[in-house]
Amino acid sequence: MKVIRTIDEMKHAVSLAIRPIGFVPTMGALHEGHLSLIRAARAENPTVVVSIFVNPTQFGPREDYEKYPRDLDRDLRLLEQEQVDLVFVPDVQEMYPPGFDTWVDPGKIGTILEGAARPGHFRGVDTVVLKLFNICKPDKAYFGQKDGQQCVVIKRMVRDLNLDVEIVIRPTVREPDGLAMSSRNQYLNPEERRAATVISRALFEAEKQFKVGERSAAFLKDLVYQILRSEPLIQQIDYVSVADADTLEELETVDRKAMISTAVRIGPARLIDNVVLDPHSL
Ligand code: AMP
Repeated sequence: MKVIRTIDEMKHAVSLAIRPIGFVPTMGALHEGHLSLIRAARAENPTVVVSIFVNPTQFGPREDYEKYPRDLDRDLRLLEQEQVDLVFVPDVQEMYPPGFDTWVDPGKIGTILEGAARPGHFRGVDTVVLKLFNICKPDKAYFGQKDGQQCVVIKRMVRDLNLDVEIVIRPTVREPDGLAMSSRNQYLNPEERRAATVISRALFEAEKQFKVGERSAAFLKDLVYQILRSEPLIQQIDYVSVADADTLEELETVDRKAMISTAVRIGPARLIDNVVLDPHSL
């Protein structure tokens, strides 16, 4: 496994790599969610590239960029075990040298849901992902359904800007009690960690009602709100949404593939989760 810190070296290593190249972008603090993407990439490509970069441009000024968990030695040990070929670990100067000022504007889908709560977030995501694609030149890139809106935004960028990369979305990996794995779960104390299970419980209850025939988005959203509000340690619910899985347009009736998603604040953490509702595959 080769660990590379500069763009020039990465471009050179990629030019020598056997194709197809499978690429998994991450911010590190790796967990089983990340590893599931890496294993999918390993199974489908002779070359696997992983990046570890806590991207400052996708964090708001009052967000957790400074205290975001970082443990490069542990991450590299895990990547070695997964037989990753190339790891790209640039520093902020390498990715954003003085004078950097060119951005990818994700348009309207970048301004709703997560984008409304975190202005500029998806501009930072699209910009860094396009840069990483240009540096690592993957044939396939792997993303987690956990960040459901991110998947939609990135697929849209690939389509709108005619990028030659196939986007592969993999299912959300959960803890045994249902909590979606996230590097940010580390922020929770034991009491908050127990309370956080309410998020997946609420979404699974809506999924259950959907599976027995409920199609009203208002009903499903109300159900999720009610269950979330029953947990006193949930300080704020940023949104509960039932939206078209491809366009993120809010739905009144779940008559096509949809995503029910939520974002909540609990203790020092802001956590997101979602479940896909598909009336055509029940
Ligand atoms: P991050 O390091 O949080 O930027 O995540 C890197 C990639 O891992 C993104 O594509 C995430 O959607 C994905 N990911 C994070 N958590 C999970 C999870 N619990 N299950 C599946 N994929 C995940």
